[in-house]
Amino acid sequence: MDCSQCDEPAVIYREYEGRALCKEHFSRSVEKQVKQTIRKHNLVEDGDIIAVGLSGGKDSGVLLQILHDIFGERPDIEIHAITVHEGIEPYRTESVETAKEMCDRLGVPIHIGKYEDEYGITMDEVMVKKPEMHSCSYCGVFRRDVINRKAREVDANKLAIGHNMDDEIQSALMNFLKGDMSRMARLGAKTHKVPSEQFMRRIKPLREVMEQEIALYAQVNDLEVHIETCPHAQGALRADIRNFLNQMEEQRPSIKHSALSSIDKLLPVIRDEFYGEASEVTPCEECGEPCSQDVCRKCQLVRAVKDK
Ligand code: SF4
Repeated sequence: MDCSQCDEPAVIYREYEGRALCKEHFSRSVEKQVKQTIRKHNLVEDGDIIAVGLSGGKDSGVLLQILHDIFGERPDIEIHAITVHEGIEPYRTESVETAKEMCDRLGVPIHIGKYEDEYGITMDEVMVKKPEMHSCSYCGVFRRDVINRKAREVDANKLAIGHNMDDEIQSALMNFLKGDMSRMARLGAKTHKVPSEQFMRRIKPLREVMEQEIALYAQVNDLEVHIETCPHAQGALRADIRNFLNQMEEQRPSIKHSALSSIDKLLPVIRDEFYGEASEVTPCEECGEPCSQDVCRKCQLVRAVKDK
């Protein structure tokens, strides 16, 4: 099949648009979508120092590449990569190597935070000591802490993450099914409000691009990305929703686009009703990071693993 816009062979047929695109037209169209998302939600402004959460996987790799292509030449915007090494072997050491290679190629400074250096534990050890616990609930709390602090060290004012359209819809459905509307209210292209300026504001430039197209973008543009999945990954509900959405999209092309559009129409209403006032934050008694209890969740979890 040829591209609908030229005579080159197509790399994708977009059922939801009814057109086929060659490598060039497909890549330009993904980049155009990302630029539109950035403009529409005012995600990047003059003087921004953007920390990009870079795992070495396809989403964050494509995000770093596109942000670098758009803003790399701008003297008023700085881009840094923040990579977290959770201590999951050999999976994370390999993906950190991929992340370093990406940054070397683009000339982007990379800052790596290791759980072992920060907390004296690795996720592999957490899994041995706390097999009954959901690994991702520890890991997610630790990761947010490391990224937040590393981003502050480079004076970043925003954290760009590689969440794509599928991630956003899955999160919305998960929160809806769990009845967690305050978490649902935190979705969107950028952080609505933060309880403390010490928390990084997050932006999601890939939010309007489907996961499958991000993978294809990485492939046709020869981006070296790490494709393994974490051996400790859990989350049966997200996996079920992912399969359901993919099945729906196959049967009814464009359903993901309409789902995202519905989420965007509902978000202002949900925020008004459920965002709530930010609870007062004070420094954690152990690490000094802002938190709403005497001791922050991260310090509580580190203690729980070490006391075991
Ligand atoms: Fe951590 Fe879970 Fe992600 Fe693995 S899948 S890196 S355990 S959050």
